[in-house]
Amino acid sequence: MKLHEYQSKLIFAKHGIPIPKGRVVATAQEARHIAEELGGRVVIKSQVLVGGRGKAGGVKLANDPEEAEQLAFQILGMEIKGLPVRKVLVDEAAAIESEIYFAITNDRAARKPVLIASAAGGMDIEEVARKSPEKIVKIHVDPLLGLRDYQSRDIAASIDLPRELWRDFGKISQGLWEAYSQNDATLAEINPLVIAGGARLIALDGKMIIDDNSLFRHPELAEMRDIDEEAPAETEARIYGLSYIKLDGNIGCMVNGAGLAMTSMDIVKLFGGQPANFLDIGGGAGQEKVAAALRIILSDPNVKTVLFNVFGGITRCDEVARGILAALAEVKTKVPMVVRLVGTNAEEGRQLLADAHMVTAETLAEAAQKAVAAAAGSLQPAPESRLVDRSHAAGAGHRGAK
Ligand code: GDP
Ligand code: MN
Repeated sequence: MKLHEYQSKLIFAKHGIPIPKGRVVATAQEARHIAEELGGRVVIKSQVLVGGRGKAGGVKLANDPEEAEQLAFQILGMEIKGLPVRKVLVDEAAAIESEIYFAITNDRAARKPVLIASAAGGMDIEEVARKSPEKIVKIHVDPLLGLRDYQSRDIAASIDLPRELWRDFGKISQGLWEAYSQNDATLAEINPLVIAGGARLIALDGKMIIDDNSLFRHPELAEMRDIDEEAPAETEARIYGLSYIKLDGNIGCMVNGAGLAMTSMDIVKLFGGQPANFLDIGGGAGQEKVAAALRIILSDPNVKTVLFNVFGGITRCDEVARGILAALAEVKTKVPMVVRLVGTNAEEGRQLLADAHMVTAETLAEAAQKAVAAAAGSLQPAPESRLVDRSHAAGAGHRGAK
């Protein structure tokens, strides 16, 4: 789960990291009031859960409260990378001398957290990483020992931080480490950490990503979730406990078990298709969950066919079949469906689906081939299990046409 800038910075501040004075607001008038309170120049910052707001025009400096109101009005009317701006942060403006990139994230390959820093921070950090990776330094942290002082000093020296700032930098590193580790974050990032007038270090931007699997022990973080800024499919998937990741292909995949889901995607690709998503409905998924999963898959307009691959262990295939049929009664669609059911109550499940004229398959390879053919628009209905046609499936008169 991503946190907003203002939420991340409040967490940073709790751990002793200096942040600018400011407040988050939802209207231009409030932005004006905060600007009046702060006095002097302010920066108006869109609060959306994507990076690159500066380049998209979502971060602007205002000289006075009047301008703050105008800019807030303008930014509150924007959409950034498809996300509506519903809140802006009004922060005291800083006189920037230089911008540092500083973050802690997981290095999966090393199986350790890693500190990443660069003196070339700011809005072009991605470009720096691509073109001059030598300007980025990394130090791994032993998760059991935590961040050691010498490691902060190492980083400070590597990015040529002026000596008089090392002490403060040490406190900021320790604060960032605490914010990262105590909140089960997978990322805690300050970009830019600036050297401001008067040789002070301030975190001007903040970003945190919290491991979703840890939210059960951080109710205060779970509450920070901003549903307005999430894709609706992701919200629904979360509510129903489904693991859903949208991809760019056109074959929707509904599978139980993460391993089987990956295998299904691989086999779809093997036969020349492209999966539209990863979706794990989990073990023991009942009718309601299956229906939700189908709604989510079909909400993607790229989906040209849906492949169901269910291995019934705890999950009962007839339950899944009923879920599919219930969902189809609800979500009217002409998208062809290919179903492979094996395991507990598979026979019963297959019967239910065959009665509704869905394409069934025995093996995963057969299912994948049929799905790829259906996505290309060339699936010939099998003699005893025709492609589902909603207008027919609804009428009992056409059932049992075997
Ligand atoms: P991002 O583009 O989404 O990463 O948003 P940031 O919060 O990092 O802001 C983008 C850029 O705006 C920063 O890299 C700074 O150059 C600039 N900026 C942000 N806050 C201030 C400020 O208080 N004063 C000045 N002069 N520039 C700022
Ligand atoms: Mn930034």
